[in-house]
Amino acid sequence: MSAIWNPQAETMPREELSQLQLERLQSTLNRAYRYVAYYHQVLDEAGLQPEDLQALTDLRRLPFTTKESLRQSYPYGMFALPLREVVRLHFSTGATGAATVVGYTQNDVRNWTELVARNLTACGLTKEDVVQIFFGFGVFTGGFGFQYGAEALGAAVIPVASGDVARQVQIMEDFRTTAIIGTPSYALHLGRLMEKIGHDPHSLSLRVGLFGSEPWSEQTRAEIEARLLLTAYDTYGLSEIGGPGVSGECECRCGLHIAEDHFYVEVVDPATGEPLPEGREGELVFTTLTKEAFPLVRYRTGDLASLTTEPCSCGRTLARMSRIVRRTDDMLILRGVSVYPDTVEECLRHFTEVGGGFQLVVRREEDLDTLEVLVEIGTLHDLTFKAVESLREKLTDELSTTLGLELTVRMVEPHSLTSPTGRLPRVRDERAL
Ligand SMILES: [Zn+2]
Repeated sequence: MSAIWNPQAETMPREELSQLQLERLQSTLNRAYRYVAYYHQVLDEAGLQPEDLQALTDLRRLPFTTKESLRQSYPYGMFALPLREVVRLHFSTGATGAATVVGYTQNDVRNWTELVARNLTACGLTKEDVVQIFFGFGVFTGGFGFQYGAEALGAAVIPVASGDVARQVQIMEDFRTTAIIGTPSYALHLGRLMEKIGHDPHSLSLRVGLFGSEPWSEQTRAEIEARLLLTAYDTYGLSEIGGPGVSGECECRCGLHIAEDHFYVEVVDPATGEPLPEGREGELVFTTLTKEAFPLVRYRTGDLASLTTEPCSCGRTLARMSRIVRRTDDMLILRGVSVYPDTVEECLRHFTEVGGGFQLVVRREEDLDTLEVLVEIGTLHDLTFKAVESLREKLTDELSTTLGLELTVRMVEPHSLTSPTGRLPRVRDERAL
């Protein structure tokens, strides 16, 4: 097992941790109430004062903060300190409309550095490593966060950012890079391109990779490891909450340890907002506990995961979250039931007679939501009405059992749901909400 960067914080007994969280939460709420007009209003509307929070679970009495609240307060509306205390601004440019802006004080940057150093240490990185960073060094938090953390470790950092793959590989070879950090899709692209240009991965010195900032599967992890000859770890963070370092895998790779001394985490039902018990998958909601410039209370991430506080063999006592493989954006809520296109795809995979394309169509009929699943006929040789109807019935049974929902299935022509430019959207929501 590799070292633990901050044993005092990372192996703290959970009871002590809860006490620390409560103290920090009370202080965060106090500052947010006093200095952020948005939270002042939110607490007043909930009929609460910061001192009413006597237990961590009391936090549930407060409403969520959403990305929309951040957009509406653009640019400085949710800052808890005047700009003269702020040393860094990061922001994300939204696909539609205003960006969300995040500020850091000197202390915030120090904490950020510490959390990324913990994350890198948990993956076995030391000052002996040469770390090449693919994340950008612009207004996004990825590049800078890992730069700080790796430097705190004493590792040699090459801030290449993304770009030309051939140059990237050349640098890895010349500088004998041992660790790479970036998005999994970029690492995969790099690995595949190396094969294409005939570059042998054995000529490199890679041993560890940290990947994050987008959902990725175990299959992708296996392919990256095989192509680049390294051990791939998952790392998680989001700029609103503080950038990279929010959570990361240890060498056990059985979930990502959350920096709970800096963030209080909840998992809620995305449809109802109700808290879910440990082990159940739901939407991650974070409250910052130490952020000075930009505290956030119950921030909805849109990321889906489950939690466990079971002891980990690495010795850390911090809770672990499961890997993010999907987001609420891909999810459909129907009569209070969450439906994921992934689940439908997985279910259809067991029927060799169907084609590759499908589409979920949701309508509202007399105030009732209905789901119709369009499925392409694939390699069915017998195209008689009877054969198609029998397949349709089987699919209806299987899908409604799996999704826990009444639905109808309609078989459609082969390739009618795929176009030369790619798949049609997997969800068509025709409800006028
Ligand atoms: Zn662990």
